[in-house]
Amino acid sequence: CGIVGLIGENIKVIDLIEALEKLEYRGYDSAGIAFLKDGVIQLAKAKGKVKVLKDHLQSVLKEHTENGIAHTRWATHGEPNDINAHPHIDCTGKISVVHNGIIENFRSLKVRLQELGHNFVSETDTEIIPHLIEEYYNGDLLEAVRKTVLKLEGSYAIAVIHSDHPDVIIGARKGSPLVVGKGDSVVGLASDVTPLLKFMKDVIFLEDGEIALLRKNELRIFGTDGIEHNCKPVEITWSY
Ligand code: GLU
Repeated sequence: CGIVGLIGENIKVIDLIEALEKLEYRGYDSAGIAFLKDGVIQLAKAKGKVKVLKDHLQSVLKEHTENGIAHTRWATHGEPNDINAHPHIDCTGKISVVHNGIIENFRSLKVRLQELGHNFVSETDTEIIPHLIEEYYNGDLLEAVRKTVLKLEGSYAIAVIHSDHPDVIIGARKGSPLVVGKGDSVVGLASDVTPLLKFMKDVIFLEDGEIALLRKNELRIFGTDGIEHNCKPVEITWSY
């Protein structure tokens, strides 16, 4: 299981797929991708190898996107199938999330969200995350994600996009690895450094409880208290 997110002027859909291929060694049963095209989130997911997803996306692989996230899943809640594969979305279809880890308290959060009118389509623990973000969102995506992660018990590395914020990816971690970095033309995040090295040399290994705001040409890290952290990137001297 692994997650990746890339933001920049010249990203192509194939870049996200190739990034996933570099995470394949982590083991997985399904894969998926969400990317922005003309302000709308395009979603594709498939049970099986990244190759199945890639074949499915053949006609759009060379298309540009400014912003996308992708996932290889190792199912913990809900069988491996197309519906349970990530990314997961909220009711509006504007928020999309990939997640590595286990949300231990998802059942109680799901019941509460259902009482508030949220509809769920998958059996995953993950699906509560986009719905919680939707519930907390009032224009400030970083703040909505911050409030959301404070409610989560268990482990997570997540990447979040919102179609109203086409130049933003938010990442956060607790108990699952997440690396972020800024290159000349790409800002990205991933479960390990290998998918990022094509685009950058300097990366930051997030600490538990940190939230990263990725924008074109900008990378900022915050604590769950909202206070900004001054993180020094490390240079990776090997290539992949
Ligand atoms: N718990 C989540 C699921 O079952 C994420 C699993 C993973 O880390 O791939 O969908």
